[in-house]
Amino acid sequence: MATKLFIDGEWVAANGGSIATINPATEEVLKEVAFASSSDVDNAVNAARAAFNNPDWRNLLPVQRAALLFRLADLISQHAEELAELETKDQGQPIGISRAVSVKGAAEHFRYYAGWVTKIEGTTSPISFPDTLHYTRREPIGVCALITPWNFPLMILAWKLAPALATGNTVVIKPAEQTPLTAIRLVELAAQAGFPSGVINLTTGDGSTGAALVDHAGVDKVSFTGSTAVGKSIVRGSANNLKRVTLELGGKNPSIIAVDANIDAAVAGSIAGGTLNTGQVCAAYSRFYVNKTREAEFVEKIAAGMDGLTLGSGLDASTQLGPLVSAEHLAHVERLVATGVPQGAELITGGRRAAETGYFFQPTVFAGVKDTMTIATDEIFGPVLSIMAYDDDDELQELINRANDTDYGLAATVWTKDLGAAHRLANGIRAGAIFVNMPPIPDMAAPWGGFKSSGWGREMGPYSIDAYTEVKGVWMHYGA
Ligand code: NAD
Ligand code: MG
Repeated sequence: MATKLFIDGEWVAANGGSIATINPATEEVLKEVAFASSSDVDNAVNAARAAFNNPDWRNLLPVQRAALLFRLADLISQHAEELAELETKDQGQPIGISRAVSVKGAAEHFRYYAGWVTKIEGTTSPISFPDTLHYTRREPIGVCALITPWNFPLMILAWKLAPALATGNTVVIKPAEQTPLTAIRLVELAAQAGFPSGVINLTTGDGSTGAALVDHAGVDKVSFTGSTAVGKSIVRGSANNLKRVTLELGGKNPSIIAVDANIDAAVAGSIAGGTLNTGQVCAAYSRFYVNKTREAEFVEKIAAGMDGLTLGSGLDASTQLGPLVSAEHLAHVERLVATGVPQGAELITGGRRAAETGYFFQPTVFAGVKDTMTIATDEIFGPVLSIMAYDDDDELQELINRANDTDYGLAATVWTKDLGAAHRLANGIRAGAIFVNMPPIPDMAAPWGGFKSSGWGREMGPYSIDAYTEVKGVWMHYGA
């Protein structure tokens, strides 16, 4: 039987039929999932609007709203193993990543933003009016559509849902069609936690379901994580009622390995950063600029490390590299990798599908890559590393210019022991997060988002409080 939609506190059958979600390690159908039509989307948005205006939610005291978020965090922790297995089956990621990153990260986001509920402050403004107090309030935006991708389905939903609820909004969730199962389970747990009816609604479906939400005049804000192409269509689609829009999009993230770098640390960190979740990470390290004098050593060691990775089902505890998420995505990775050698790159290892069943792809390293090659410019979102060299006597600015020669600006890494070079590169590279001597790991307390075509706005930390609130100024004249 197909799953249901969650609208106004009830699980209801979808008007749009169903869509299968599959296990990418086995290619087996896991579940038929409800497909929300535009009439279902309409019902969900109307329920979210009614809940937004309902005193049961509106007038909750901060401590009461916080308690709901803490309760949901506890329920996630209590169901951690079940959620981790579900994430691994639906998405493919190794179970250790599901436990340590996806499920733990989701619970921590709810706890972090539960803590914020009682700390959302306004300001007083020193206006030059006699006998007048000016103060600000942070108020919820209204109905928020949360549209999420398939790479970290549970954790990225938590990034959005926790602050949206902490600030008093109501939501309609639209998970990726490839990986909806943990979102469905999370919504069940949220209902158990006691959020009032209509505060959290779930419309599973595909891109057309997401587009119906973006078009809907009853939606006040869209928070989207996904591809840059869909991000642009969301900007166009949301113009009708000037929705607030937060976008976390793609990246083609540069790593710079300086002449003095600890190569073993750079190799280990680059493999970790390049193959986490099979490279299906928006901040994945994917193009490498290595000092020419260290190039041979770096290429040899990173190829050996990539070759040594254990591929397999994410449910197997020894697996280091799971499958890609779908047949469609495997074809995308194959198509981009196939451009490497014809355009003049040297394939050092990998380059092909790794099994007959399951969407496994060999860990792949290209060397001798040039800045204009497709494998250096396009987001592959797979376990594929493109290595370029730079001359020892090049100016630092030249290297910065090469790193910045992209439409993206999500993340970057620098491997060096030279503090001056580290600071100059960190200041010069145009990206939302610069990691020095470490892999790209987000944390709920630090801003996340991109420059340029990698997105609009920032989530996490106090930035999500901004992203999910409107500022109201109150002018209070107390003169005669
Ligand atoms: P996608 O853009 O195809 O889909 C993302 C979500 O948008 C899905 O839920 C999908 O159903 C929905 N969608 C598709 N078309 C839509 C439309 N026209 N209107 C509204 N919604 C629509 O992205 P994907 O392939 O699922 O994810 C991979 C991409 O996500 C990569 O480019 C990656 O870099 C990016 N990503 C970015 C971050 C970040 O934090 N910046 C994190 C994870 C993934
Ligand atoms: Mg799936």
